[in-house]
Amino acid sequence: MAERRSLPITISGVTKTYGALKALDDVSIDIASGEFLTLLGPSGSGKTTLLMVLAGFVRPDHGSVRFGDEEMITTPPHRRGVGMVFQNYALFPHMNVFANVAYPLRLRGVARPEMEERVGKALDLVQLGELGHRGVHQLSGGQRQRVALARAIVFEPRILLMDEPLSALDKKLREQMQIEIKHLHHQLDMTIVYVTHDQREALTMSDRVAVIDAGRFAQVDGPRRLYERPRTRFVADFIGESSFLPVRVSEGAVRLGGDVLRLSEAPWSQAERQILVLRPEKLEIVPDRGATDANCLRGTVSDLIFQGESVLVYVRLAGGEQIAVRSPSRRETLAAVPEVGQPVHVALDPEDAIVVPEDP
Ligand code: ADP
Ligand code: MG
Repeated sequence: MAERRSLPITISGVTKTYGALKALDDVSIDIASGEFLTLLGPSGSGKTTLLMVLAGFVRPDHGSVRFGDEEMITTPPHRRGVGMVFQNYALFPHMNVFANVAYPLRLRGVARPEMEERVGKALDLVQLGELGHRGVHQLSGGQRQRVALARAIVFEPRILLMDEPLSALDKKLREQMQIEIKHLHHQLDMTIVYVTHDQREALTMSDRVAVIDAGRFAQVDGPRRLYERPRTRFVADFIGESSFLPVRVSEGAVRLGGDVLRLSEAPWSQAERQILVLRPEKLEIVPDRGATDANCLRGTVSDLIFQGESVLVYVRLAGGEQIAVRSPSRRETLAAVPEVGQPVHVALDPEDAIVVPEDP
């Protein structure tokens, strides 16, 4: 196998305080060479601070950051060799597209013919091959963000850092750019650390997602595992839609009211009071409990909401809690949607039963 250009990143015990506030609280993670890792969390959770620590603009109080075998903590930003893309593009407004993208090469003293070739290649990669002569003010938001991307990759960095690079774009363009950035990641050998507060974007793009809450990692996992096996209520709530029901755990049995639930995996926590996480699309309204292995919840339809591609059926359970069941709008399922007031059975496959502890 050819030698990799991209570098692994090792973050150990990084803490950053601002006065009494712990923006980062003892954060550690190993990011593999060539991995696409996303930092996902709500506003103020510490995402940008961690990215700035990697870039060298923020010096942590404690901890270590290594690129490959090399400690970076005292290395200034311009010596770290990382590409960066930010939310607000930060292009030079008085320069045309070519000059913007060529800038990192000029800083590195690259000669003109090579510069032209590499800028041309970078612009082709972001599908702006024809626009080198354009002024930055003559570009759309999406085009500007592509220029920023081209500028970040033109010197072939081994590590690329991106802080909410698509958040200023409208939904269609954002989704298109997500796919383009993924393709770029496959074409170029780079380790990418990507920041977003958009869970769908994180699931779409990443090899792994680190969910960050108040300066700490709540969970680091692949998209599917994160969605199907959240380890805390915070993660279950932040990623995907959920209803929550209180359950009691004792002697390995999980009880919802009087019923023992069937689970494919025992809860990881031993706590007595825990929460059953129900994803609306994993539930199904069934005519009666039948002879299946599924868990069965009984209730009454309290509301129906038609949402185009699916129908949300709200069911009030005997205990008074309300849960949501999503039914796809295929003709045959639509015909079977019950009416408000109708008693129903809701089936939950043991594979889809997620039990997490209450957040501390
Ligand atoms: P995010 O990018 O996840 O929205 P940030 O990393 O920007 O979060 O901020 C994390 C926390 O640190 C926030 O509470 C923020 O107000 C605080 N913070 C960030 N930078 C500074 C600073 N230079 N001075 C004081 N507080 C800061
Ligand atoms: Mg931020």
